[in-house]
Amino acid sequence: MSDRNIALSVKNLVVQYYTDDGRINAVNGVSFDLMEGERLGLVGESGCGKSTMALALMRMIKPPGKILSGEAWIQNFNLYELNYEDMRMARAHMIGMIPQGAMNSLVPVLRIKDQIMDTIQDHKLGMSKEQMLERACEALESVGLSRRVANMYPHELSGGMKQRVCAAIGLAMKPKVIIADEPTSALDVITQRQVMETIGKLQDQTKASIIMITHDMGLMAQFVDRVAVMYAGKLAEVSTVKDAFTNPLHPYTKLLISTLPVLSRKGVFVSIPGMAPSFLELPAGCPFHPRCPSAMDICTEKMPEQITTSEGRLVSCHLYQA
Ligand code: SF4
Repeated sequence: MSDRNIALSVKNLVVQYYTDDGRINAVNGVSFDLMEGERLGLVGESGCGKSTMALALMRMIKPPGKILSGEAWIQNFNLYELNYEDMRMARAHMIGMIPQGAMNSLVPVLRIKDQIMDTIQDHKLGMSKEQMLERACEALESVGLSRRVANMYPHELSGGMKQRVCAAIGLAMKPKVIIADEPTSALDVITQRQVMETIGKLQDQTKASIIMITHDMGLMAQFVDRVAVMYAGKLAEVSTVKDAFTNPLHPYTKLLISTLPVLSRKGVFVSIPGMAPSFLELPAGCPFHPRCPSAMDICTEKMPEQITTSEGRLVSCHLYQA
């Protein structure tokens, strides 16, 4: 990691939601660095704060939620200090997103070219219509689709093609950081691989960094360089994908890995005991302690700090605190 520059530096990010039952911190003091050209996978059970973090990085949290504190630096810009117009521009050139369920967000009555050109026009680059059309066709080709797709409507495309179009829209402005939120969740296994290969190739060409959110640990193992494991709005562990699978530190990471299917356990399903806690009723101390096989007395009282155990490796657990 040391020979690469930092593409995105997130410091102490807190995202709060106001509910009828009280305030919750859906992202609760998250800090990490994403290196240039790096692929970081973000994993965790549903409702752990992954998608909220993605939206927060795009500064797209809507009321009753708000970014309470924190910084997100790309180059010399803290995204949270940019004015509205600068952030709109940053959303294309600095940080782009392929949102969850993106292929369902295509407008059924608009041709694909118009949907991509809308994005380009939105960023006021002063391009002529012909130039925007050329950029739209290039974007389609960059995700392995023919220029002919530009004149088609969404209903004429397969699920995989629609997802590629969404990747083309998200990446048309060649952002430095790409956030892909479950980019393949509604696709069959073969199409999933093809879409991931496409995103990977595109990322290689543009030298962008990527944060990929997924439940699919297999996809994760093949695609990312490092894994960030999230639990109850916090990062439990960040490590290389090899360390995450062969030498996980945090008890939650260990349990996540142990739930992966293996042939020798055919027919036996392994799950993590208990349920992820509600943000409204987080246990005191380490939020994982009611489910943790290694819990100690201190775990019920004190929240563990996030510490760096080696370069690029972070863990939040009392087992590793000095
Ligand atoms: Fe388990 Fe304690 Fe570590 Fe939390 S801090 S993961 S309860 S050992």
